[in-house]
Amino acid sequence: MVAGLATADSITNPDEMFSKAGINLVKARATGVDRQGKMVALSDGGEAPYDKLLLAVGASAIVPQIEGADLRGVFTLRDVPDAEAMVHFLQERQPKKLVFIGAGFISFETATLLAASKPDGYDVNVIGRRAHPLPFMLDTEFGTRLQEYLAQKGLGMKMGEDAVRIGGQDGLVSSVDLANGESLDADMVVVSVGARPNVELAEEIGLETGPLGIKVNQFLETSDPDILAAGDCVEKEHFVTKKPVAGRIRGPAVIQGRLAAKRLAGHSISFPGVLNSMAVKLFDKYAGATGLTEGQAQDVEGIETVSAVVDSRSKHGMIEGMKPWTLKLVFRKDTEKLIGGQILSDSHPPVKTIDTVSALILGEKTTGDLTTFMCAGHPDCSSEPSLEPIAIAGEQALQKSKK
Ligand SMILES: Cc1cc2nc3c(=O)[nH]c(=O)nc-3n(C[C@H](O)[C@H](O)[C@H](O)COP(=O)(O)OP(=O)(O)OC[C@H]3O[C@@H](n4cnc5c(N)ncnc54)[C@H](O)[C@@H]3O)c2cc1C
Repeated sequence: MVAGLATADSITNPDEMFSKAGINLVKARATGVDRQGKMVALSDGGEAPYDKLLLAVGASAIVPQIEGADLRGVFTLRDVPDAEAMVHFLQERQPKKLVFIGAGFISFETATLLAASKPDGYDVNVIGRRAHPLPFMLDTEFGTRLQEYLAQKGLGMKMGEDAVRIGGQDGLVSSVDLANGESLDADMVVVSVGARPNVELAEEIGLETGPLGIKVNQFLETSDPDILAAGDCVEKEHFVTKKPVAGRIRGPAVIQGRLAAKRLAGHSISFPGVLNSMAVKLFDKYAGATGLTEGQAQDVEGIETVSAVVDSRSKHGMIEGMKPWTLKLVFRKDTEKLIGGQILSDSHPPVKTIDTVSALILGEKTTGDLTTFMCAGHPDCSSEPSLEPIAIAGEQALQKSKK
């Protein structure tokens, strides 16, 4: 929406969709829940009775406590009204110097889409606290390659820097100061430094919550078995580490919604934990990731790893239009199990290959298992069978772990 590629109507569901499915849609805020009387209080003065209740109240953008964060021209991007406010500001004020604070996928996708929408119109800078873009998706070798590509495309980046103050004139944003003393001119600032779960309602009614969200069991039941919770507002478990994790992305939200419905219909299907699988397109380059990066595994989790990086291609070498892509797989050294994967690609979106890696992690496959991984192939849409990257990465990691 912000870059003019979609309208509010094209990304929201029409009311008829709910009525056709027999769902009574009430457009009001849930302001309280009477757990004894099993009644939800609504902001329009109404009430909604329930036998079972699902909380799917999402998350809110974090606004850092720095001076100037409340100036006009400083935005967060979480929902349609946020996007509409940005579109309005872009049209009305015609800002030229855009500064993005945060180096995650929302920041970089919005920054690159806007930069591409007016190639000579915007001067775009992204500020990130870590050393390279997408630090929670990519290890240094991929992050640095991506950063070089983005710099070639004209994107300004201040990586390894902290924004400490947003400056303004007459209530309007005018600059962003960095911890190193540098100051960037800014006509518009977008802050994307993460989200916090909307736990207020759950807390008010005495449900168990933690810093990462509402606590649920494997069937998404809260500490009150008649109230379920799903999506961004829920604390999840990481499939590999078995530790609590936020997991505020679409895949877990959709699957938790489905599982909650299954639970209400009497099924007992467990939520398996998350791998935080993600895919991003920045200009013409794609990045995808699932599971742990090698940095997270080693530095945060203390897991000894073996990894392999394999160059592949979109088509057989002799076919015109062949483009390169690179796969990295990360394995535990002790069990040789696959725990993470990353892709950087000039060609096809990496989503399906990342999903394959994700399925292999969930299947607890090892280096040895991957050496026999067989893929469908065609000269026009896959690499040569002997260069199949998942099997080769398994082979390389197997050799390394035997040393
Ligand atoms: C800009 C942006 C881009 C994204 N892109 C991707 C992507 O490419 N891939 C990906 O995997 N994920 C992406 N995500 C994340 C993804 O959108 C979320 O993980 C997903 O929407 C979570 O779904 P949810 O239903 O839990 O929460 P939401 O989609 O946030 O829905 C929660 C809803 O509850 C409503 N609500 C809150 N409190 C109340 C209340 N008290 N009463 C009534 N209603 C209430 C909110 O208004 C909201 O409509 C993106 C997020 C953003 C912000």
